[in-house]
Amino acid sequence: MFDFVVIGGGPSGSYCTQRLAKRGFKVAQLEEHQSIGKPVECTGLVSRRVTSMVKTDSVVNKVHGANIYFPDGNHIRIGKEEETMVLERDRFDQDAAAMSIGNGAELMLNARVKDIRRQDRKMKITMRRDGNIEEVEALAVVGADGANSITRKVLFPDQRFRRIVSAYQIDGADRMEDQDNVNVFLGNKFSNGYFAWGTPAGDFSRIGTAGFGLTREKFNYLYKRYLNPNKISITGGPIPISFLRRPYGDGALLVGDAAGIVKPLSGGGIYTGMVSGEKAAITMERAYEKEDFSEGTLSLYNKLWKKELGAELKRDFRIQKLYSRITDTSFNIIGRKITTERMTHLINTIGDIDYPSRVVLKMLIRNPSIVRNVLFPRKEKNAERN
Ligand SMILES: Cc1cc2nc3c(=O)[nH]c(=O)nc-3n(C[C@H](O)[C@H](O)[C@H](O)COP(=O)(O)OP(=O)(O)OC[C@H]3O[C@@H](n4cnc5c(N)ncnc54)[C@H](O)[C@@H]3O)c2cc1C
Repeated sequence: MFDFVVIGGGPSGSYCTQRLAKRGFKVAQLEEHQSIGKPVECTGLVSRRVTSMVKTDSVVNKVHGANIYFPDGNHIRIGKEEETMVLERDRFDQDAAAMSIGNGAELMLNARVKDIRRQDRKMKITMRRDGNIEEVEALAVVGADGANSITRKVLFPDQRFRRIVSAYQIDGADRMEDQDNVNVFLGNKFSNGYFAWGTPAGDFSRIGTAGFGLTREKFNYLYKRYLNPNKISITGGPIPISFLRRPYGDGALLVGDAAGIVKPLSGGGIYTGMVSGEKAAITMERAYEKEDFSEGTLSLYNKLWKKELGAELKRDFRIQKLYSRITDTSFNIIGRKITTERMTHLINTIGDIDYPSRVVLKMLIRNPSIVRNVLFPRKEKNAERN
């Protein structure tokens, strides 16, 4: 019998596991794949906050800026002195999992959870492990099993994501000439309501797009028109960009992508997932002290993670909803407005990839005509649609 079982070997699960194990609890971490970090479904862009949380040698590049391309070809470069890291995601996940093992947790690989039920105040977890059906017991479980979480489906069937984007990415065996800037492409040619990117990752390039529906079609445009990577892998998947109202219940919590604790504007979920993992661990520790894993006690989790990220994710969500309606015509107008020294200075000074709403709100306050184009997008001109 374990104190806690954490389902999922991604960064959210490992961060939660290592913290629980460090406090002396008996923890099992279950991962359905044979190795941690595979398959890779990520661009790997994170702030220094992330690399200060996990000791890792998975950083393959450090960028200082981004080229933002508008539909008419106009572009601006924004940048900071502070570096943004590009991770080799599988290695990063392995380093995060090593922290769990190093602190005494038991990592079970090839262990796919099939069912979870609460019985006699214990959680019973059924899994297929190395081909056999096995059951483990714990006082409580943490579902860190990603966007398609079985924990959510079984224990929280009423909890659904309000908004999900699908992402599609090709990793190319090409070294991009400019290693210091990420490229971001806005507009209808590249994405339905989100954005596309080209990221220099040392000897590799990561080219992708995300959006609401038909992502592949948009990707083809990006692939042919701008970059032509020698593909070595194709990845992708859903990114939930709206957090669940109630990611807790009797004996269970959901963290990271499983709970939709992801930045709505960028789809980045490594930092937010690890923060939620930490808050889940603190909540479980308190519940253990009280000997009470009821929904009421575990509701503390929602307070803790929201205190750190809730206001930001709510603002990002509202901005994203407006952003996804912007037409190419309005993007071009906005592009011209922000290609000024004053605006780029503002972005460079207060832009933060983990807390992006601050800079967006400041930009809107300083330039009312951007607000007009966000709230009332101009009708599309035909020429800009193609
Ligand atoms: C194309 C793409 C690009 C992205 N780029 C970035 C980026 O640049 N920066 C960033 O911060 N975020 C990015 N993200 C988002 C980021 O990948 C996720 O937010 C992050 O992986 C969430 O971590 P997690 O631990 O919550 O979930 P996951 O990383 O999804 O981990 C869940 C784990 O649970 C395991 N699992 C699932 N079901 C079961 C089961 N039944 N039994 C046992 N184990 C199970 C899975 O195998 C997996 O290992 C990107 C996403 C995509 C799709």
